[in-house]
Amino acid sequence: MQELLEKIIKDCQPYTEEGRLANYIPELAKANKNALGICVMSDEGRTFCVGDYAVGFTMQSVVKPLILLLALLDKGVEQVCSLVGVEATGKPFDAFNYSDQALTGAHINPMVNTGAIALCTLINGATYEEKFERLLSLAKRMTGNPNLSLDTSVYLSEKATGHKNRALAYMLKAYGMIHEEVEDVVDLYFRACSIKVDCKDLANIARILADQGVDRKTGERIIEAEYTRYINAIMTTSGMYDGSGEFAFNVGIPAKSGVGGGIMAVVPRRMGIGIYAPALDKKGNSVAGRKALELLSKQLGLSIF
Ligand code: GLU
Repeated sequence: MQELLEKIIKDCQPYTEEGRLANYIPELAKANKNALGICVMSDEGRTFCVGDYAVGFTMQSVVKPLILLLALLDKGVEQVCSLVGVEATGKPFDAFNYSDQALTGAHINPMVNTGAIALCTLINGATYEEKFERLLSLAKRMTGNPNLSLDTSVYLSEKATGHKNRALAYMLKAYGMIHEEVEDVVDLYFRACSIKVDCKDLANIARILADQGVDRKTGERIIEAEYTRYINAIMTTSGMYDGSGEFAFNVGIPAKSGVGGGIMAVVPRRMGIGIYAPALDKKGNSVAGRKALELLSKQLGLSIF
């Protein structure tokens, strides 16, 4: 495996030149465009890391499965499903793809911004500070990393510029789907997106999702299998934004990408994968990261289809 990953890194390095760093959140444009790292954690608990796997980056949309998970843990499937749907939008992650006449849960997907912002309101906590702390502590459990923290520069950068997300939240409020103060809700969302991780952290979350919620190293059940099925299914249809269909076809595993350049990929019952390469394609997916997953999937026959 180590050898295979090293070859994949070498073959994919040129692809880091093809993409562009996200710059609509100014702080993200400071990343090293040529970085590329992979971590694979296998079912038997073995870990393989190559390249820039230890470089820290912000989760961005990779946190969306965790927001969904915490909403499920706090409020259950029924309440989550009454607020958000499961259909792929086929539109960019921050699109206003809703008709003027109606906005209902069926139009909102938790793997894109509107759905994730809506789900922030289902997280338990007396204050928004407490809600964030609860999300961070879930992230610490799922990554197995007690040192996980907020990247304050990225958080402040997004808070200063994230007006489109504010607009999406106001739209949710206009349609009566959220009732809280917009600034509080988006602040939680911006902080969630700014949790700093590395490839190992993402691989560890993915390995637990791959093992139906059980941490095989300790035998402890972290989450209900019912929730991992929900999350893995929705990552399959919508985790790679409006590139999810092509990704399902060519790579064939549940995955979630983020504009920070991370991809978390779940190979059910086999492995968890974390990838970092911050240069993105037009849809917001890591170019080299996506290519690396495709090569890995083809070499090891990982497609679930
Ligand atoms: N924080 C980013 C935003 O809301 C996340 C987008 C993404 O990674 O897709 O714009």
